[in-house]
Parts: sequence; structure tokens; C-alpha cells
Amino acid sequence: MLLRDKFGRYITDLRISITDRCNYKCVYCRTGNEGALYGDLPFADYLRMARVLVALGITKIRLTGGEPLLRKGVIDFVRELSQLRRPNGSGNSADVLDIALTTNGHLLADLAQPLKSAGLSRVTVSMDAVDPDRFTRITRVPGGFDHVLAGIRAARRAGLWPLKVNCVLMRGFNEDQIIPFGMFAREEGVIVRFIEFMPLEEERTWSPATVVTLDEILSRMAEYRPLVEIPHARSETARRYRFDDGIGEIGIIAPVSHPFCGHCSRIRITSDGKIRTCLFSVWDHDLHAQMQRGASDEELAEFIQGVVLKKEERHHIGEPDFVPASRTMVHIGG
Ligand code: SF4
Repeated sequence: MLLRDKFGRYITDLRISITDRCNYKCVYCRTGNEGALYGDLPFADYLRMARVLVALGITKIRLTGGEPLLRKGVIDFVRELSQLRRPNGSGNSADVLDIALTTNGHLLADLAQPLKSAGLSRVTVSMDAVDPDRFTRITRVPGGFDHVLAGIRAARRAGLWPLKVNCVLMRGFNEDQIIPFGMFAREEGVIVRFIEFMPLEEERTWSPATVVTLDEILSRMAEYRPLVEIPHARSETARRYRFDDGIGEIGIIAPVSHPFCGHCSRIRITSDGKIRTCLFSVWDHDLHAQMQRGASDEELAEFIQGVVLKKEERHHIGEPDFVPASRTMVHIGG
């Protein structure tokens, strides 16, 4: 039985936030002083949730946070996840899950190889400037830039591929980093993806004026070098482009100016075990409470299928009826 919502979308991508603690204070995310609010669960609980969801058709699992590498035991958890197999398979590599992780990269240099050996397929590093001073102004953590660069290079050596670097663009903060990031993608051999700023920060300061849109990013990058669009799967969040000489690839995730909800294949589990059917959900569904009351795996599967039937059709960013999400990004996990 596969997971399908009432709009006919198959849910195949699961994001698990394994902590809402973070060692960075990025200005577009942790604008306030909330800190960790919800806490986290034993890995055994996330593993059981993942096992039930894989049996329902999940093929990709992404670990997020807060900052997931702050959790001791994350390597063993990746190893356990990598043992899970997709149902009805013949037991060969086709049944292996695609396991990814999103990190701010600060702790990645020492963990990249052990994560790869444990079964991690790929990693995405959040990095919003290639200028060290600007990087510090955005993250509000001195000395972080060198750590992150070392982490990216260690991930490449470990063979975590494709290696993506996500940059959230905010007008007035880092739109001048577009071309330097194009150069960075070519020099470091990583895929740089620009993300339009979304209203998920703590103090709700977002406005349409702060968004650097897809069209703007493309026209700026074209001042540096022509781009060629790469065909991409409909459920992919990023539009992909290669530079005309074939060296270097960028992506643009444009949920505000070019929403992609029509092909959304994602659900999320928060660090405290709640299901969120959309990044902009205004409510949670308490899967962990079902486990605590002694539900069987079959009952958990039924609960999850019921929740997926309530999945939102799309977000309403910038519309008169837009209601802010009930949690901010650091407490959802992207
Ligand atoms: S906003 Fe919600 S529905 Fe749209 S792509 Fe994101 S998670 Fe999916």
C-alpha cells in the first residue's frame, strides 16, 4: 500500500528532524532567542517510524535539524536506516533507501567519512556566503567559515555525492554573493542551489520585498556566464542549470515565485515525533503519542495514511489568506 494524498500525489520523501538544537544563529532563521523548544527522541523511536513509513513506500529519507550533527549517535542511526529495505523488493541494491542529510557543515569535516561508511548517500550543506566576513554576519558564529569549507571538501573526498550547497538569498544581505557562488560551484565541484527566502523565521519579519526571485538570480548569473537549463524530475524542488562550457551546475529552489506544490512528494517528522504534511502546516499530527499509547505497526500505518489524506494542496505565501506556519524552520527541519 503506497502513501497517496487526496490530490493524487504519492509521498515518497521523508524528512526526519533529529534535533531542534543548532550551533548557528542564522539571521533568516533564528532571528529571536527561542533556542531548542521541542527537544528530541531516542533514535529507536525515529527508526521505528522510518521502518513503518518505508513499508508504506518511502524511498528517500533526509535527516535534518536544527543541526543534526549535534546529535551523538547520528552515525549509528544512519547505519540502522541503511539496513532498511523497500518492500516487495528482490533484496538487491535497488531496494536500498536513498539516505541524505542537511547540515550547516560546521562539524562535517570529521564526520563525513564515517557517515559515508555508515551508509549515507549524499549531503547538503547550508552556506549563505562565500565571503568569510559576510558568512559570519549571517550565521553570527565567528570562525565558522573555515569549518564549513573543510567540511565540504571532506564530504567530497568521502564520495558523498551529489554534494549540494544551499544558499538562502535575502535582499540586502547576500544577493551580491550570486556570482561568487557560481565561481565557487565551478572551483569546488559542488552543486550550488539558491533558495528563495520563505516566511519561516522566528520573528516573522519576512516580506515579498526581501525575496530575491528565480528570474533575478538567472539574470545576475548570466552577467557572469551563460546557463543552460537541465531537464529535471517534476517532484524535484530545484530547477537545474549548467554553465555553457559544461563546468559547474547551479539550482534554484523558488517556492515563492515558482511554487512546486503540485508535485510535492514530502512529509516531515519533527524532532519531537510529530508529522507535518507541509512546511507551512498550521498543525501537527502526534505520531509519537500513538507509539506511547502502545499502537502496533499496523495501527501506526493506518494513522499515517489518515494524516496524509489531510495533506495541504499548496502553500499560500504572499496571499491575503496566508497563515504563518505553526512552527519556524529551525523547529521543522526544512
Ligand atoms: S509548501 Fe508544502 S505542499 Fe508546497 S512543496 Fe512545500 S511542503 Fe509541499
